[in-house]
Parts: sequence; C-alpha cells; structure tokens
Amino acid sequence: MTRELNQPLGGNDMPRFGGPATMMRLPTQADASGLDACFVGIPLDIGTSNRAGSRHGPRQIRAESCLIRPYNMATRAAPFDSLQVADIGDVPINTFHLPKCMDIITDFYDEKIVAHDCTPLTLGGDHTIVLPILRSLKKKHGALGMVHVDAHADVNDLMFGEPIAHGTPFRRLVEEGLIDGNRTVQIGLRGSGYHADDFDWPRDQGFRVVQAEECWNKSLAPLMDEVREKVGGGPVYISFDIDGLDPAFAPGTGTPEVAGLTSAQGLEVIRGCRGLDIVGGDLVEVSPPYDPHGNTALTGANMLFEMLCVLPDVAYRT
Ligand code: MN
Ligand code: MN
Repeated sequence: MTRELNQPLGGNDMPRFGGPATMMRLPTQADASGLDACFVGIPLDIGTSNRAGSRHGPRQIRAESCLIRPYNMATRAAPFDSLQVADIGDVPINTFHLPKCMDIITDFYDEKIVAHDCTPLTLGGDHTIVLPILRSLKKKHGALGMVHVDAHADVNDLMFGEPIAHGTPFRRLVEEGLIDGNRTVQIGLRGSGYHADDFDWPRDQGFRVVQAEECWNKSLAPLMDEVREKVGGGPVYISFDIDGLDPAFAPGTGTPEVAGLTSAQGLEVIRGCRGLDIVGGDLVEVSPPYDPHGNTALTGANMLFEMLCVLPDVAYRT
C-alpha cells in the first residue's frame, strides 16, 4: 500500500506570503499519529539569562520558512518523497512557571510524539527545552549521542541558584544519563567565561569540545568525519543553538558572542550528520525582537529543513 505523503504547499498554488503559517506550509495535525517526523514549537523563554524574546521564535521561524522549497539542491535530499511530515503546533507551556514547564514538555512529547514513533524537530524557545525533550526521548532510545552547536557549553551547575535555566541543560543531561558523554560533541564554543576552565568540565565527561577558534577560516567537513566516528554507534540528537553562528549571520538571539561559525559552516555540520541514526533535533534561541530583518529566523528555519534532510530513510533524487 502506498501512502499519500504530505507536501509543502507550493508557491504556484498559493503565493508564498499567503496560505498557512505552518512550518514550510505543511499540513497541521494535533499529534504525531502516522508521522515519521514532525515540526513542533516550544514558545518558552523564561529560562533566558540575558535578552529574552525566544518565546516568539517558533512563530517567526514558521513565518520565514514560507520560502523553503521541498528539495535540497546541494544534497539532492527529497524528504517529502519518503517521509510523512506535518507541523503539530506548539506545546502549551506555563509561561509563569519554568519548573512546571519541564513536565509539561516531557508529557507532551511522551503522549503526542514518542508514543507515535515520530522523530521531533523542535522550534525553540530557549535552550532549557533540550532537557525535557531528552527526558522523553530517553524512554524510547536510552542515552543519546549528541551533536551540540553553540557559543556556550551550557554546563553551569546553577544559575542564580537554580538548576533549571538555559545555561545548565547539558550538565543535567549528563547527570541524568540522557546523553553519553563519550558520544557527545560541542562545536562553536567561545567568548568570555567565569573561570578559565569552564570548557574543561565537558571534556572531563568525555565530550569532544571544538572551540570556535578551531573552526575559523576553514571547511568543517573534515571535522564532521571525526564527529560521525565519535557520536555514531547509536541514536543521535542534534541540538543547534543559533548563537553558535556569528552574530553577523544570526544577530537575533539572547546571548550573542562574536566570531562564531558562518552559515555555511552550520550547513556543513548538519549535512555532515548524514548517515547517523538521528532521532531528533532542535533549533533554539532565535529571538525575533532582536531580529528586525528576519535573517536569524530565516537561518533557523533553513537549519531545521537541513535536519529533516539528514534523517534516516530520507529519499535522495540522483
Ligand atoms: Mn545554548
Ligand atoms: Mn548559546
């Protein structure tokens, strides 16, 4: 039996500036029933430490995604030839209570996504959300390998005395056994810290930490050969903080750091994940109030499309 696969609404059927305001103008549904992959938003920014605004990220990423066409002209990926994909909307978080949001998000993923064997691609939201997402995914996959793009390690123990915030999730992921440190890579770390050894804690957990200076002025394709070797051998998650990119490309974010990755290097990282058993991904920290021209949301939308293009079982037109 052949399935009728959802297709993004084409620009010759409805002008790109019209039609549904969903991710890539895909159909919506209330849960991931029957889907291989879904886009889902988490409009949460109450874990943010500096500039807020990423609560508006999912809506703006969807808006800027209206220009993305179904085929990847570089890799020839044709995700809608083989995968059933839809936008299942946003998680109804409690914007007045961050700890409660953790359980709201985990329960939502358990019931509406993981129960349907669907791969989530999440539109953030601040980076706090990776913790409740992986609490859900662990129930199906166990500890995950991790490809983490970010200017920051996000391994603080406490922030203002709190264990849950956007700068702590990768320490919690290790403590809770949600990721395997020996199958984890962080790419793009840079800037100023509180202690000179801030990036050594993740190294002590077995992470490969690739500071931004190691990425400057070169292709990251060779690095990704090493990354696939490091994180492979089991299910892998991609967590992409848009502040991993340089503020020249992605100014609309809460915690910008100078001299980051280029957009092209961001594409190289995600395309370099092809062949891994990717079981989920997120694009976090797009803050539309600081993104007056929409470039950050546009870049984020394209990074999510690229994640879709490297999922297992994606068709390629050769
Ligand atoms: Mn982050
Ligand atoms: Mn960051």
